[in-house]
Amino acid sequence: MDETGGGRPYPFEVTDELIAVESLTVRYGGGGESPPAVENLSFNIFPGEFVCVMGPSGCGKSTILKVLAGFIAPSAGRVKLNHEEIHGVDWHRGVVFQQPALFEWLSVKSNVAFGPRARKLPGGEIRRRVEEHLALVGLAEAADKKVYELSGGMRQRAAIARSLINNPEILLMDEPFGALDALTRAQMQTLLRRIWWNTRKTVFFITHDVDEALRLATRVLVISRPPGRLLRDIGVRFTVEFMENEDERIWFGEDFYNRRQLILRLICEGDGES
Ligand code: ADP
Repeated sequence: MDETGGGRPYPFEVTDELIAVESLTVRYGGGGESPPAVENLSFNIFPGEFVCVMGPSGCGKSTILKVLAGFIAPSAGRVKLNHEEIHGVDWHRGVVFQQPALFEWLSVKSNVAFGPRARKLPGGEIRRRVEEHLALVGLAEAADKKVYELSGGMRQRAAIARSLINNPEILLMDEPFGALDALTRAQMQTLLRRIWWNTRKTVFFITHDVDEALRLATRVLVISRPPGRLLRDIGVRFTVEFMENEDERIWFGEDFYNRRQLILRLICEGDGES
């Protein structure tokens, strides 16, 4: 198991990066007097990676995600998708939050169809995509239910389908399972891991839960205490090994324990320099 300097799309072939974050600094308030939320941060994300981002509360994880989504602009530096600078929101990046932003009074299938309808795709194509994505997240039976009738886990399934249906280049997830009970959370991790494995979709995933990170990620970025900078870029092999062998014992071995302790120590104590 190795730690990577600039990121490596284990176990996929090394290709051009999908996302390039270059010397990113974000300052809220605009006046230049507030301390930066994120400072001089650089990293790449390669196609097919599952990148989990961890760090102490307030270190700027959501800020990074908001810049990647195009909700806010960098104060300094650049963020690129396929070598093009990101300006504003578009369909190439799908976002899933802890509290899913769904239309409560609409059916699951209407929520999932929202993006393709807004893009005025043909009706037959929309129906085909909706069916495919409801099946992907295990919601085929709930297609006609209204959102207010759904459990927390079902809402997150709908939110994931609603993002994926646009075939985004990257799925950006901000603690998506943070509000779920432990059992539902484990089920959602299983679902997302399988979706990632089958679609090879690139995922950028914020979490506070080190076990969740190590059971999902191919790479963990640890961000320092504020102002957020990249403390460590850690390659993780457990997710791929689990998908290849379907053997949960990998999550209870010494390697897993050691990696878990390393990440917890980095989050709590920093790397000794900060
Ligand atoms: P994290 O996701 O790691 O908890 P955030 O990115 O939410 O961290 O926040 C990083 C810092 O930026 C915090 O100090 C937070 O108070 C500040 N911040 C976040 N959003 C705003 C905002 N809209 N306006 C002003 N400050 C903000």
